[in-house]
Parts: sequence; structure tokens; C-alpha cells
Amino acid sequence: MFFYVFVIVVVVILAHKFYGLDGLLVKWKSKRDLHIQYKEPIEKYNRFYQRLPDKSKIIFEQKVNYFLYTKEFIPRTIDEVTDEMKALISATAVQLTFGLPDITLKHFDKILIYPNDYYSTINRQYHKGEVNPRYKSIVLSWQHFVEGFANPTDGINLGLHEMAHALKLENLIQNEEYAFFDRVELEKWKTLAKAETSKIKNGGETIYRQYASVNEDEFFAVSIELYFEQPHKLFEFSPELYKTLSNLLRQDVKQLYDKITSS
Ligand SMILES: [Zn+2]
Repeated sequence: MFFYVFVIVVVVILAHKFYGLDGLLVKWKSKRDLHIQYKEPIEKYNRFYQRLPDKSKIIFEQKVNYFLYTKEFIPRTIDEVTDEMKALISATAVQLTFGLPDITLKHFDKILIYPNDYYSTINRQYHKGEVNPRYKSIVLSWQHFVEGFANPTDGINLGLHEMAHALKLENLIQNEEYAFFDRVELEKWKTLAKAETSKIKNGGETIYRQYASVNEDEFFAVSIELYFEQPHKLFEFSPELYKTLSNLLRQDVKQLYDKITSS
């Protein structure tokens, strides 16, 4: 009897050491079923989720739960952040990190939501979204977020764009989620990004919009939009770019979409 109590105490102490008490509670809570008010909008609007096999859907829902429990959603010039907003924003982060089971964009614990584009006092411009590592926040215009999902195949998606910025930063920030991208693949990707960026700048043939050539971070964010919304087009345009992105994210969205179409 004493032995069992001892084992339980050791397990609890170790778990507490690795996750903290809050972390443990959240991990336990996120294993529960996703509430219907969150699940419904995801089922209705998230194309990636819709295409997942049933087993993967459960994992996706648990990741959404975890994201919901660990992030603070803050309304800006709107009355409240609705459950639908929370669900669809969380699902976007989960879609992007689905192949990276331990990655939850840990550094970014605040999601700020404006109704429309907003004036940023930092650079005195109107923004549709931004990621601010200093304030640990991801900022989104809800109208533009919705527009991104209203047309899921046009290669433009604000939510994925901003989450991509957060993911690339998370890889650089020294915490539990540091340096998760495969280094060799990341170097390969940087070389390809450089070549493609100069092609965009010089008016070469490309499927990228001009904005992708601003810098490497913007190129990554726009690449993620294309990867999820036009994977076949991106693959046909540059199999290398598609493959390195797929290797970095450790998922193959083209294959996921193909599977369902052919069944
Ligand atoms: Zn950007």
C-alpha cells in the first residue's frame, strides 16, 4: 500500500515539475470533448478539419481545447470575443501546427481582436493583423479573418498569415518550444526563399503576390497561405518550395486533400 502511495506521489511530483500544476490541469481538461459551440463553427468553416480522418479530428479538437484554455482572447473596440471567434482562430493555429504535436505557440498568450482594420500607434499605419513578440500577442481584424475563410482557395488568408509569423518567431524564442524546425530543411527553405524573392522583385514568373518579397518573414507567411489554400498550385509551381514547407510543418496538406477527393 505504502509503495503505491509512494509511486503516485513521485508521478505527481514529476508531472508537476514538467508541466506545473496549471499545465497539468489544462492538459487534463483539454482531453475532454470539445464543446459543441466551438466544434460547430470549425466543422462548418475549417476546410482542413473537414478533410481529416475521424481519428485525427479528435486530436485536432484536443489541440483546439488546449489553445482555448491557454490563451487570453481580448476584445478591442468590440463588446466581446464570441465562441465562434475563439473557435475559428484557435483552429487556424492548430491547422498550422498539426504536424508539430508539442507546439502550441506558447510565447503568444494573448489574442487581440478588432472588428476591422485598426490604427497602430507603433508605425502609424492601419493594420489588418500583426504579431508582437514583446507583448506576446497576436492581433487580428475579425472582418479580414472571416474574408480569409470565406474563400478558402484564393491563397489569401489573414489568420494563417499571422499564425505563420507567430510560428516562425516561436522557433527563435528560447523557451520549451525553441528550434523545433528541422535545421537542414530550414536552411534549404531560406535559400529557396531568397531566390524566389528576387524573382518576384524582378518581375519573374511567379504565383506569389508582390507583398511576399518585402522580407523573409513575409515570404514565409504568404507561403503558408498558399500551402494551405492552393497546395497543388504551389507544388506545380515549385515542388522544392512545397516539399521544404511540408517538411518544416511535418504534414502534407496536398496529400490530405487528394485522399478525400479520390475516395
Ligand atoms: Zn505579414
